[in-house]
Amino acid sequence: MDSEPITTNRTRGTQAHYQALVDSAAAAILVIDERGIILDANPFTHRLLGYHPQQLIGKNVDCLMPPEHQGKHDHYLRQYITTGQANIIGTGRRIEARHQAGHVVPIHLAVSEVWVEDRREFIGIMSDMRALTQAQTRIKHERNQLKTIINAIANPVFVRELGGRYSLANYACLQALNVEHVEQLAEAIHGALPEGMHETLNALDHQLTLDGEPVHVDVTLRDGRTFKLAKTLIRHVEGEPYAIVTVGYDATPLLQAKHEAERANQAKSDFLSAMSHELRTPLNSVLGYAQLLQRSSSPRLTETQRQYVDQIHQSGRHLLTLINDVLDLAKLEAGKTVVNVTWYPVRALVSDAVRTLLPLAQQQHVELDDCLPADLSGDLYVDPTRFKQVLINLLSNAIKYNHPQGRVWVEASQPSSTLTISVSDTGIGIAENRLNHLFEPFNRLAAEQSQIEGAGVGLAVSHQLVVQMQGEMSVKSQPGKGSCFAVTFPYRASMRSGDQGCTCLRVSQPHRVLYIDNNSARQRLMTDCFEDWPMLTLYHAHGLSLAEAVALASPPSLVIMAADSVAATPEQIQAQFGDKPLIVLTDNPCDEPHNKPTLRRLSLPLSSADLAEAIQLLLEERL
Ligand code: ADP
Repeated sequence: MDSEPITTNRTRGTQAHYQALVDSAAAAILVIDERGIILDANPFTHRLLGYHPQQLIGKNVDCLMPPEHQGKHDHYLRQYITTGQANIIGTGRRIEARHQAGHVVPIHLAVSEVWVEDRREFIGIMSDMRALTQAQTRIKHERNQLKTIINAIANPVFVRELGGRYSLANYACLQALNVEHVEQLAEAIHGALPEGMHETLNALDHQLTLDGEPVHVDVTLRDGRTFKLAKTLIRHVEGEPYAIVTVGYDATPLLQAKHEAERANQAKSDFLSAMSHELRTPLNSVLGYAQLLQRSSSPRLTETQRQYVDQIHQSGRHLLTLINDVLDLAKLEAGKTVVNVTWYPVRALVSDAVRTLLPLAQQQHVELDDCLPADLSGDLYVDPTRFKQVLINLLSNAIKYNHPQGRVWVEASQPSSTLTISVSDTGIGIAENRLNHLFEPFNRLAAEQSQIEGAGVGLAVSHQLVVQMQGEMSVKSQPGKGSCFAVTFPYRASMRSGDQGCTCLRVSQPHRVLYIDNNSARQRLMTDCFEDWPMLTLYHAHGLSLAEAVALASPPSLVIMAADSVAATPEQIQAQFGDKPLIVLTDNPCDEPHNKPTLRRLSLPLSSADLAEAIQLLLEERL
């Protein structure tokens, strides 16, 4: 049997292995001779360069070079053969090849020299670099785009690596710190920060690297500019943090504008407060005299005179409400309104407000009902004066925006830890698309086209007051059918005994009351009120020195003072008169917070019902 030697077999086998490798390689492999003529090529040349191997064999390798490189290849070969100086041989490099279709293809070319017996040949391996080049171009493009975007941002942006190196800063950042290159940033930032701030920022950066939570911080530079900084951690794709990006916002103009606005607002509040005082003082006097005339029995007024006086009183009250509303709004907006919440009998609050609005309801021929359950005797957690103000506003709206023979009623929900008091009416209602604007100041929701008086401030004030007292206000309305405004506050069952709803004065023993006021109209009104309370004796004093003398001769159980008549604080007066209970009559009953059970503030013009309630509370229930 003919058999080939084992070594020959082995050689054949090895050749077959190499052939298979060359044929299936994912790179174009060419064999060329010393002149650059292609002796052999593998099938991948077709995939990479568009030539089948047979098309290449016998051609000069130049045909695979782009026009500008053609010819150079011959030169390289000759140079290598004659001088041994390699250009590409033995190494590799990225170049461009020419496709059969004419376009260039990015490749990596590695060339090695082989000797076949005494012939020198070269093997070139061309790897396809198209995908890599495309990816690199895309990355370059995206980086360029990102750089343009970052530079287009008007806010300063910079990146600091965790090692401390600043690696990126946009134009706005360089400009803000007056430097030209990112390399100058570290020094510029250090110089701009006030003492200690650098350490604070470093500590924040450190914290950020630990918990990854974005940090927001305000920094005021040495030159007075304030920047709001937002810092975010940047991580490698594997999740490891490596840098912090900081985006700044120069808040200086905004803060200056805010400061200006606050100053202007302060000036507005001061003006309003001064003006309202100027307006309220004479108006209170007008109202006081009108009340005196209304009560006067000798000489009796004629019917016409009484109507005139009623008109003066009504218009005066309207004007006063308007002034008070505008002032309230100004104070609420300036955050200057103080509310003193306390537990207060709900029944007294509601019946008082209803009683106040009965004359208006009668005048408008609207039925006004207090429908609170008979056994509701607990307390609401509210500021009593402010709550009444809200309720009076809701009730007067329910009456105003009603029809003759319409109805308004006040109800309470089932009491729990909260209680909802609702004011419902059978009035004109409010269109659904207007409900959103209900609490906007000076927005009358088209009521300005009607004959109904108003300024569009009451509900805005009421809503803000309810919010400030930690309560809630809601509205339901149906045009043509009516509305229901509801307020909800914390509630507790009654802690007292007795009838809290009655505000008529019932004192069990005689008391002396010292009244300090230099306004003669108010004095007469006060005298009038006290005529209804025979158990109380009223002593007048125009000023503090006279009051002291009177108190010495006849020590009072209670002191009443008009705030505008005495140049002393309520606390000083109480200290001076042996800590006696004190009622302060004032334009701004809610201005000063107080927690003293022996002190009550009543608003002017004086309401005899409020006065009775306060006296009752201070002289009897407190004891
Ligand atoms: P105004 O002084 O105009 O009464 P408010 O602030 O109290 O101001 O109310 C704002 C607007 O809301 C009113 O002008 C009116 O259009 C509407 N409104 C308030 N309450 C009622 C109600 N019970 N029924 C119908 N419309 C109401």
